[in-house]
Amino acid sequence: MSGGEAPLMERGVLAMDEGDALMLTRVHKKPGFVTVRRHGPRTVNVGKYSSVPDIGAAPIDEPAAWFLGPRAENSEVLTTLTKDVLEHIGAYRRGYLPEDPIIITPEMQATSSYTTAVAEMSTSFKEVLGYFAERATPFFSLRYQAHMTGDNPMPALAGYFLGMLHNPNNVTIQASTTTTLLELLAMRDLCHMVGWSTENDDQAWSHITADGSIANNEAVWTAREVKFLPFAIVKALQKEPSLAGAKDVEVTLTSGTKKRLDQTTNWERFNIRRDEILALPGRMAAKLGKQPYEVWSVVVNYDVNAVGVWGMLDAFEGLGGAPTLFTPSTRHYSWPKAAAVNGFGTERDVTMMVDADGRMSIDELTKGLDTALSKKIPVLLVVAVNGSTEESAIDDLTKILAVREDYRKKGLEFDIHVDAAWGGYFMTVVRKDFGSVVTPADLENPFIEDTRKVPMSDYSIEQFKAVREVDSVTIDPHKSGYIQYTAGSILYRNKEVLNLVTFTGAYIGAATEPTVGMFGLEGSKAGATAASVFFAHRCIRPSERGYGRILTFALQNTRRLYTDLLFLSRPEDSFVCTPLPRIPAERSGASAAEQEKQLAFIKETIWGKTIEEIEANPEALALFRELGPDQNILDYGFNPRVDGKVNTDPEAYNQLMQGVYDAFHIHYDKEGLADNIHNYKLLLSYTIFKRHEYGDAFMDTFAKRLGLEGRPEELYCLRSVIMDPYALNLNSAFTQQLVDILRDKVNELARRTSRSASPSA
Ligand SMILES: *Cc1c(COP(=O)(O)O)cnc(C)c1O
Repeated sequence: MSGGEAPLMERGVLAMDEGDALMLTRVHKKPGFVTVRRHGPRTVNVGKYSSVPDIGAAPIDEPAAWFLGPRAENSEVLTTLTKDVLEHIGAYRRGYLPEDPIIITPEMQATSSYTTAVAEMSTSFKEVLGYFAERATPFFSLRYQAHMTGDNPMPALAGYFLGMLHNPNNVTIQASTTTTLLELLAMRDLCHMVGWSTENDDQAWSHITADGSIANNEAVWTAREVKFLPFAIVKALQKEPSLAGAKDVEVTLTSGTKKRLDQTTNWERFNIRRDEILALPGRMAAKLGKQPYEVWSVVVNYDVNAVGVWGMLDAFEGLGGAPTLFTPSTRHYSWPKAAAVNGFGTERDVTMMVDADGRMSIDELTKGLDTALSKKIPVLLVVAVNGSTEESAIDDLTKILAVREDYRKKGLEFDIHVDAAWGGYFMTVVRKDFGSVVTPADLENPFIEDTRKVPMSDYSIEQFKAVREVDSVTIDPHKSGYIQYTAGSILYRNKEVLNLVTFTGAYIGAATEPTVGMFGLEGSKAGATAASVFFAHRCIRPSERGYGRILTFALQNTRRLYTDLLFLSRPEDSFVCTPLPRIPAERSGASAAEQEKQLAFIKETIWGKTIEEIEANPEALALFRELGPDQNILDYGFNPRVDGKVNTDPEAYNQLMQGVYDAFHIHYDKEGLADNIHNYKLLLSYTIFKRHEYGDAFMDTFAKRLGLEGRPEELYCLRSVIMDPYALNLNSAFTQQLVDILRDKVNELARRTSRSASPSA
């Protein structure tokens, strides 16, 4: 098949300037088009657009002013912001060419059909409001310790409301004269958070996606186009007379050897570093005396987007199989979906079992890579999850990076993606503060040194610091960024990849304009989302002073609930409680006596103590940081205890867990109507661990710790995502009340379960 003669689609080609916005140039490259620099105290210039509000200029450092609050404590603030938007919208419309005629006249508004219509709308809306009042889920409440949804920052809501009433579409700047630039600034900000510069062509880029699933799909899509690009270039060199002068272009293989690209083997071609591949069109252009985009615009017609996977079959000659993704078994289901959608098939999404902490087994990974190496199966991506959806586990990225170095020496090259859809914003707890302009010196060491008070383990902190080493990252502002739906994002370390995924329809406009809408899978994109993320970041910086504090509260609250669960069961109770995360002494394999000692120490110095008390005791503080899950999703099991003996039957355990979940999740009737929400005093979610997914190490360790015998195929587990962005020790009487509700219910159900399970009953 020849893609060159009949291009399958029209493609726009990007040229990137010194600045960070991109311009679309089919014709020429205008130098110096876009730079972002401070202009006055509170605005920046984005290209020819001056006075764009500066995202780093106006942080609000008072956490009490960030959220509406569980009792709507800040409703006056939100009302003011909302009113400001409404007044602005009225003034904006009236101010736009004021000589224009009035269409809806006072006479029309005075008719009885008009007044009736307005009254009907209002009545009808009250019905809908009533429906929400009864049945909406109280994500904001301290009683809601279930799914990944919490309160939303007021700036995010106000930004969205403003954007929504203007309704721009970030698909093209023609339809988003305000919000395209806000998206550019907000996403640059996320790149800077990770520690990436956005200044140059081969540096970082990010755009908003509808969600993490789309971001993961785009990561696989771009990885696919990069992986096959050397093959595309070889074909283009054979077929395109205009490229004749670049026929002898060389590549550096992972071994360090230089070789003419057209003389490499298929296996070598599949194992070239991403940056080396992405530099090829530029190097060819230099040989040809052309602009890079002129070469890009030719070679993309030979890549998978144009010719399909079928057009690439000759790439597999002499190899053992099609490119593979390696993901941990805790991965989100968007990964197999991405493997399917991108033409590899779910079978090419090979999952690695996890260890007892729910982190990808590095042994399994190296075994998989050995197989790939010996059978000559190309590896597309290794995905490290940062904050798994069910347990907030963080895969050992530092080890995965080291593994990649090892395999590079053996001639096996792959890209690494971090799926931080959930966990991304947790990086802010160790991210130094920064403004909208960052210099290379700022990015040399973007992380704080004194982590003594950071309620996150040294292990987790190391994984965040390593994110900047990878090729692409998914971060959802609508997950641990607390922003309302929908707001995901994809970050690329080397923005040259955008050349490979740009499709232009005639409708997406003219050249030389900043754009964010043309590099993703989506078409129309809510500009309101960009305004929301932008204004949230402007008020609550994605660093220590802003989100870092929100997430510090969330992490502290998680650790405090963890200790509550450790000591939940008293001698007189009919159950035992086992949190999935082991205490550090157990994790490190210390003796039973040492574990008891550590438990006693936790009970004495951490359990029920305020953060100030814990922080005043260096030994307790050091241990506090290492307690609980890697982030803020806490899983735990309750096992019945009869006459002082802990149940050993997995069935009875699962039955109790099902009962507890039933007591604390919203039920629906046959008509699909949710139960009245006011009937629930506490809300939890649950998950099921399956042996064939999680593997023996994980399942056997947890089963044993629960006190179960045998080798259960499935273990039910309660799951709480603790998102409360406040220091909860202020409310310890109230949180104690919630703990009591849980204990009483489990006792009641455990007595019932154990009666029905015991043979004498
Ligand atoms: C939530 C999640 C996703 C998917 O994100 P959506 O925004 O729900 O599409 C992907 N990966 C992880 C680890 C997640 O937690």
